[in-house]
Amino acid sequence: MGRGGVIVDPGDMAAYLREPRDAFFGRAPCIVKPRSAREVASVLALCNEAGVGVVPQGGNTGLVGGQTPDDSGAQIVLSLQKLDKIREVDPASDTMTVEAGVILANVQAAAEAAGRYFPLSLGAEGSCTIGGNLATNAGGVHVIAYGATRDLALGLEVALADGRLLSGLSKLRKDNTGYDLAHLFIGSEGTLGIITAATLKLFPLPRSRATAFVGLADPHAALSLLTLAKARAGSALVAFELIPRIGVDFTTRHIAGVRDPLAGAHGWYVLMELASPAESGVEELLTDLLGEAMEQGIAEDAALAATLEQRAGLWKLRETLPEAQKPEGASIKHDVSVPLESIPAFLEEASARVIAHAPGARPTPFGHMGDGNIHYNISQPEGADRAAFLARREEINEIVHGLVTKYAGSVSAEHGVGVLKRDLLRRVKDPVALELMRAIKSALDPKGILNPGKLL
Ligand SMILES: Cc1cc2nc3c(=O)[nH]c(=O)nc-3n(C[C@H](O)[C@H](O)[C@H](O)COP(=O)(O)OP(=O)(O)OC[C@H]3O[C@@H](n4cnc5c(N)ncnc54)[C@H](O)[C@@H]3O)c2cc1C
Repeated sequence: MGRGGVIVDPGDMAAYLREPRDAFFGRAPCIVKPRSAREVASVLALCNEAGVGVVPQGGNTGLVGGQTPDDSGAQIVLSLQKLDKIREVDPASDTMTVEAGVILANVQAAAEAAGRYFPLSLGAEGSCTIGGNLATNAGGVHVIAYGATRDLALGLEVALADGRLLSGLSKLRKDNTGYDLAHLFIGSEGTLGIITAATLKLFPLPRSRATAFVGLADPHAALSLLTLAKARAGSALVAFELIPRIGVDFTTRHIAGVRDPLAGAHGWYVLMELASPAESGVEELLTDLLGEAMEQGIAEDAALAATLEQRAGLWKLRETLPEAQKPEGASIKHDVSVPLESIPAFLEEASARVIAHAPGARPTPFGHMGDGNIHYNISQPEGADRAAFLARREEINEIVHGLVTKYAGSVSAEHGVGVLKRDLLRRVKDPVALELMRAIKSALDPKGILNPGKLL
């Protein structure tokens, strides 16, 4: 591995053995940091022979414990940080080929430097890697217009458990030659192979944006606004985020510089954004759309961002919501999705049942409503004992996940399964689907060295 390729000093290893929120810890004999796809493949060949578990790690921002080794001290961490090259940007094909360890913000910047747009965007974009995004099929705020990471990848290069390298860096948008192997690895959380590079889709760079913060009575109104916005704006609708009143209270109370953009209080809010490659037009479109929403009694009030600073302020309110929950005490979190039409019923039922079960608990559901994805967070009752509230986590999870199943939703909309939801997956996933997943795992990784104990 060369100099600096293997870390064994406990102090230097520490940052790789815990994730930044301190929710997951592990031990490892060493951290390996290969510099090329070939080196990744060689490490896997050796580990396969020796039967040593390998935990792939990108930016270490995952929220379900997938990138952390277990506490046996027997698994090694393979960091992709040194695979950080942009191999090619091809504006004519609207593609770029990047190594797995490139930070997402650098992928976006390289696309922009070539006059193109890579739309994946999430709170951790300054530190997460494109390899981690692919391995978790990350979502973020623009899925409504561009899809999740899965929809943004054309081909992958992957190091397999036995040390072979799958060279699938295709730029093709049409290729019907059998199974789409890239999609097998996307969302597999490092359990089937280690992604070393990817060819990604690029889009026209938006040259105009319009952003609004809309006050509404309830999630039914938010759903009506979403339906109207899609009908009027089509693919120009690039973000549609739901925020409850309590979320505005928390952020204005705890985050410096966040202000309530509207004069009066409303039950719910939507942060929506339109974007277009055209120089102008979206602001007018958004103004007309909101006018129509007011006329129809869907929206109660709205504020349009007039400057870049105002736009940043609106997004800050949305992005800092999880941080603003911290000073309010413990919270129990769920990353779920349900079909769009069921969102209002799901939210009403979940809140009623959670509060009946844990009186005083403060549901704070927010997130990517345009994708049916709600971060169903619940803050503890005001002034209550933190540990006593967290002790009820399992019962509250049962309520929320039970409703997700009732409404034909998913218990992991975008963060993946990792170790956090592994046991839950066994209970909620179709048994035939689980059997197929296990069959694929044993075909590609018969010795079970790739991210052992995660996902399955
Ligand atoms: C503030 C914040 C906001 C976030 N917002 C979102 C959001 O909006 N949407 C969303 O989907 N997620 C979000 N996340 C979660 C996280 O950022 C994503 O899961 C991200 O895709 C992980 O990338 P990473 O490079 O940090 O991967 P890591 O955390 O290092 O790893 C995540 C998983 O991928 C595997 N892995 C990593 N690299 C590879 C590789 N090259 N090959 C194979 N397997 C690999 C790991 O083993 C692990 O199972 C957020 C996290 C934070 C902290």
